[in-house]
Amino acid sequence: MQNPKKEMVAQLHNICALGDTAKLNVLLSHSSSLINETAENGWTALMYGARNGHFDVVKSLLEKGCDKSLVNKSRQTALDIAKFWGHKHIVNLLSNSKGGPIPHVLVNAEEEYENYFSSTFLDRRSDKRTGTDWLKAKQTQASSVYIVFSNLNPLVTLIEAKDGSKDPEIKLCRLQVEDVKEYLSKPDDAVLVFLGVEKQSSIHHSGEVNRDWGGQDDPLIAWFALNINDISTDQFKRKYEDCYFLQPPMTAFLQLTHKEAGVLAQARAVLAWHSRYRFCPTCGGATSIDEGGYKRTCLKEGCPSLKGVHNTSYPRVDHLPIYCAVLCECHECVFVNECMFSSVYASRLSKAINPAGEGEPYIRRKVNAWDHCTVNHAPGSPPTSD
Ligand SMILES: [Zn+2]
Repeated sequence: MQNPKKEMVAQLHNICALGDTAKLNVLLSHSSSLINETAENGWTALMYGARNGHFDVVKSLLEKGCDKSLVNKSRQTALDIAKFWGHKHIVNLLSNSKGGPIPHVLVNAEEEYENYFSSTFLDRRSDKRTGTDWLKAKQTQASSVYIVFSNLNPLVTLIEAKDGSKDPEIKLCRLQVEDVKEYLSKPDDAVLVFLGVEKQSSIHHSGEVNRDWGGQDDPLIAWFALNINDISTDQFKRKYEDCYFLQPPMTAFLQLTHKEAGVLAQARAVLAWHSRYRFCPTCGGATSIDEGGYKRTCLKEGCPSLKGVHNTSYPRVDHLPIYCAVLCECHECVFVNECMFSSVYASRLSKAINPAGEGEPYIRRKVNAWDHCTVNHAPGSPPTSD
């Protein structure tokens, strides 16, 4: 016979994952001691509610005094989980709650979906890619930031969590021109991509964003990504003792801060394009890298790719939506666990995806009509995986 308490906990978690606040309140009214019980994966009722964006469930659990500081086996709190899945209203709720009543303004907060790898604190400034002098000046400026990759593996370092209660997380190593200048002089061995400039709200507000700063004297902090083949970490250790190149599988990408993840995704997507298109796709000739790393120009005279705008010279940067239907109660992907589903599910999903241009609302409507299914999406350029 199954353990009755375990069954009750499983039931509680299921109710929270499905967002059934009425059932939750009934269950907790006679079994309030279960509120902080965990499943084998360390997940609590609060985490399940947060994972699926169920505001009322999370609110109810907090009001009943659940412990929001608990962590699962991946060392994530309910807040971490809500952040990762882009449930801003839950993030607000968890960040602001101290067990007291919920501020009215947050109760009706509109749900927004945001992807982990699509956020950034950089303004890409594509207009600067063709300004060679400006770019060159920025490359040598001490304030410019370089993030370094070795064969597309980013150089990162560990950071200790502030409260000491969690595993260390990682951040991108931010190097300066002094650290990388020997590679900048070897364009055959290294690919340099201009990522953008740090957004500076003060500059925007004072209307100086378009001011001509006369070359290198502007206050914009430029970011570059540098991919170097086959370098050892040792070469960077003198500057950053704890740095290392992340190796696949890169689940640790998810330990980056939300904004750094977006920068990493942008950098890695463009660098991956360079690593795959070293030669002219039109004639097979050698190419040079132009426009801040967003163009490869064929060096062979008369190559058709040199006339007009040819897409063989540019990376494809179209946003490609990838939809993934997930079962609420077990968080399993419909695609992956085909054996769990009838062929009806698979064919309905592919039908839902095929109509071009229908977009996310259409997919969401379609899939939400299925039992227990929700939609999460990954727009933009996720880090490419090998
Ligand atoms: Zn060519």
